[in-house]
Amino acid sequence: MRQPLVAGNWKMNGSSGSVRELIDGILSGLETKAEVLVFPPYLYVQQVRDLLQGSLVKFGVQNASDKLSGAYTGEVSPLMAKDLGCEYVLIGHSERRSIYGETDADVAAKFCALVDNGLGPVLCIGETLQEREAGTTMSVVAEQLNTVLRTAGPERLANFVIAYEPVWAIGTGLTATPGQAQEVHAYIRELLAENDQSMADRTRILYGGSMKADNAAELMAQADVDGGLIGGASLVAADFKVICHAAG
Ligand code: PEP
Repeated sequence: MRQPLVAGNWKMNGSSGSVRELIDGILSGLETKAEVLVFPPYLYVQQVRDLLQGSLVKFGVQNASDKLSGAYTGEVSPLMAKDLGCEYVLIGHSERRSIYGETDADVAAKFCALVDNGLGPVLCIGETLQEREAGTTMSVVAEQLNTVLRTAGPERLANFVIAYEPVWAIGTGLTATPGQAQEVHAYIRELLAENDQSMADRTRILYGGSMKADNAAELMAQADVDGGLIGGASLVAADFKVICHAAG
């Protein structure tokens, strides 16, 4: 039985004042059996950690380097994320891929560095609108995932999360239908099963892409949708809590 997971990706939003308000709002009356996680911007991680102390809500960061230390100006090491108490790190978000040019190989290197340092990667994969319209959704997703699985090798695949995020649904208000989401999630699970059935059974696959308070329940009711990666709606405490509640 996979515990649902709801993760909020705050992206580059917030201030020390709004972070306090948002965390206070999330913690007040949060009712869910799902694991709940937020990804604040780096500079607010310590503040978020302090505000979350004593709660069950976890935190992580939105990206990390594949390097551990040294002359990499502007980068953040997995060791630093671990040091501050992060459990999970988001990697391969479509904004990292499209704006900063991260390749499948870059994402795979980050995946390995995270696992080797005791962190759980939340690996984002998903097709663009052009790829969906060209009928290549499954092959795109397979290539993104298989590059990571191949590079990591079986010993690094004990604890990670996949977020299927159709790029055309991120921040656009367009959401995959529950059927579209389930079709790709089931395929991703099949790809995992080709490697290892028990990994396929235990690995959580989140849906991301304009998941909101009013569509979360039907998306998460799909057999292979194990929770959500939430962007815009994670910045509104009341909406985020509705989504957490819908998850279980
Ligand atoms: C995201 O950025 O991962 C995301 C899913 O954003 P939104 O919910 O705003 O579409």
